Amino acid sequence: MATQVSNMSAQHDEKLTPYSDLAAKPQIKSDILVRLSTFLQTTLDYQKILTLFKREIAAAVLVDGIQFDNQDNGVNFSIGHLGTHSCSYQLNAQNCKLGDISFYRSTRFREHELANIEALMGTLVYPLRNAMRYKSALDQAFKDPLTGAGNRIALNDGLKREMELARRHSYELSLLMLDLDHFKAINDGFGHLVGDEVLKSVVEKIKECIRQTDICFRYGGEEFVVLLNNANIADARLISERIRMSIEAYCLQTDNGPLQATISCGLAILHPDDDAHSLMDKADKALYKAKNTGRNKVCVHEHSVQAILCD
Ligand code: GH3
Ligand code: MG
Ligand code: MG
Repeated sequence: MATQVSNMSAQHDEKLTPYSDLAAKPQIKSDILVRLSTFLQTTLDYQKILTLFKREIAAAVLVDGIQFDNQDNGVNFSIGHLGTHSCSYQLNAQNCKLGDISFYRSTRFREHELANIEALMGTLVYPLRNAMRYKSALDQAFKDPLTGAGNRIALNDGLKREMELARRHSYELSLLMLDLDHFKAINDGFGHLVGDEVLKSVVEKIKECIRQTDICFRYGGEEFVVLLNNANIADARLISERIRMSIEAYCLQTDNGPLQATISCGLAILHPDDDAHSLMDKADKALYKAKNTGRNKVCVHEHSVQAILCD
């Protein structure tokens, strides 16, 4: 226990009053610590861990809300009410940064309560470290390692989920399929490493042009899929054009001189009769049309064009 607590560096936001007991010792019954440790080891889900932690520590110290941040893992989680008084700690496990945790409530924390929180946090460090490792491994399993976009598995899951949400909440979902133009010639002329840089840049440009709720996936080689939720076909066409133009305008400086790339795009909107396969197929057909009619353009699938005309 002592070594775990020593891995946490405290930054109390509160000023100590003159009557503070500077040598405050934790006052926690050992059965609370045992129960807490047991509970926290039952899951690898960091949200469940923090929820259990908040519930269980109520027996030793009253806390209205907890916030946990771990930027490396993209975690910013809060639970309960984030009141005006807080105490914050940087959590470390074996010299590895775990993140920052803050405890909130509407009245100030007394010294013995801070001591209690610090003692209780000893049970949190290792379950939370394991949960962060688990999350990171899960995230990697759904990511394309080169570009950081979602991979094919993530696309299958994401498309299914977004279609269900779009139907449940009656909003429109558009699917954009993009393919780099003459990419083989780029590889042949500049080398595969430069080709890889182009792929990374394309994903950066796509992400700059889409909203936070839209999702970008690498479908394979030099093909990408973007799910544009809550976007009708007119909005989706605008976003697609923005992506196309931003890639066309981008210039990569290489040892063999400047390199510019273009993409062709196929766009389709989810129709009531569509399943994931037919929606992908429509976007693919529109992409094929863009390729066959000059490249570096956005084509909308004919059914989706009809959807605009029928509105
Ligand atoms: P089009 O305009 O018709 O799409 O022509 P294209 O040359 O882009 O299409 P093609 O399918 O002939 O070639 C795709 C190329 O993409 C061939 C392949 O070597 C390359 N490629 C696929 N994955 C990667 C990758 O991860 N890195 C690099 N550098 N190249 C890749
Ligand atoms: Mg291709
Ligand atoms: Mg291509």
